[in-house]
Amino acid sequence: MYSREREELFINLNPLQTAGRTRASVRKAVTRYVDGYSVCDACAGILHDITKPPIKSLVDDLAEFLNVDVARTTAGAREAKFMVMHSECSPGDILVLDSNAHYSTYVAATRAGLEVVEAPAGPPPFFHITAAAYAETLEQVKTRTGKPAALALLTHVDGDYGNLTDAAAVAQACHEAGTPLLLNTAYTTGRMPVDVRAIGADYVACSCHKSWGACGPIGVVGAIGERAEHLFRLDARYPKKNIELLGCTARGSNIMSLMEALPLVKERVKHWDEELENARWFAARMEAIGKGGIKLLGDNPTNHDLMRFATPLLHEIGQGQRKKGYYLHKELTDRGITGLKPGQTQWFKMSTYGLTRSQVEYLAQAFEEIASM
Ligand SMILES: *Cc1c(COP(=O)(O)O)cnc(C)c1O
Repeated sequence: MYSREREELFINLNPLQTAGRTRASVRKAVTRYVDGYSVCDACAGILHDITKPPIKSLVDDLAEFLNVDVARTTAGAREAKFMVMHSECSPGDILVLDSNAHYSTYVAATRAGLEVVEAPAGPPPFFHITAAAYAETLEQVKTRTGKPAALALLTHVDGDYGNLTDAAAVAQACHEAGTPLLLNTAYTTGRMPVDVRAIGADYVACSCHKSWGACGPIGVVGAIGERAEHLFRLDARYPKKNIELLGCTARGSNIMSLMEALPLVKERVKHWDEELENARWFAARMEAIGKGGIKLLGDNPTNHDLMRFATPLLHEIGQGQRKKGYYLHKELTDRGITGLKPGQTQWFKMSTYGLTRSQVEYLAQAFEEIASM
């Protein structure tokens, strides 16, 4: 199946992909700038100052949209996280993060030479990350080392359970401990409204191929106040060149795709409540269909379109099927639904982002039929 077919002909449930789907105008914009360095024709030495194409106004728009002082594009959320870690910390420093953090957070921390200390998630089935867990972990770090942790990172919504954390409360705990906060919004900005300044975070990392309908690889890093000045400091020898950005970052069709996607993103975050209603309606239906054999994990009711279900019922049905665990994928494909991992029936993650209510109803009906096999 080609990726365009998947998006045009199927209902795709893959949470990595639902909010990164591009609209036609984005795909068109990409083809206009597909030649290498073609965005750099009118560059006077600083990528983010280019006015033709309007990259300068794009980054100003991004800063306004996120409500940070300075925003710059990166190649993705992980590059944004690494930049902040590298800029804010020295090797051997401690990064406090939530235990639901993405693998790329850990890898970035390792690359920056940091020791990671986890603020633990609460017990199953919710796996909640709380400000109290951060406060306690930050306090333990201070007791052990005699100084505040160098940096804290919070996964705003995590990719395992789709849990939405109380970022403002975590930001307050961090500030009380004297530690700046980097908010990883890979699953939030671009889908739902996020006001970084109001939350009280110092830095933000975004993934635009995941959540902003851009082709990528493209992300955004944002910072507030003096932190922004330090993060975006310039090289002494090449005073136009940003050190943490290695001079320039997204310098191809990826940045053009974001430019074209941004107006749609600004509009769609206003409809987050409808996305949430769809997700909640679907989760409630799934739990009703499963009669205890299908269970939503994480926040319940969910606060996000990414949902993880434990599905012992669907697993049990598979045991009586010729295709065993692969039956689920086949039954869904036969109904024009794709995006779950073939062979996986004990549990799965999925997303309803961007589906209409009637598509969500169709989806529930499909699972209802499968659950009664
Ligand atoms: C997907 C994801 C990332 C990685 O995003 P990239 O933009 O591809 O680097 C980072 N963090 C979380 C929580 C994610 O879900």
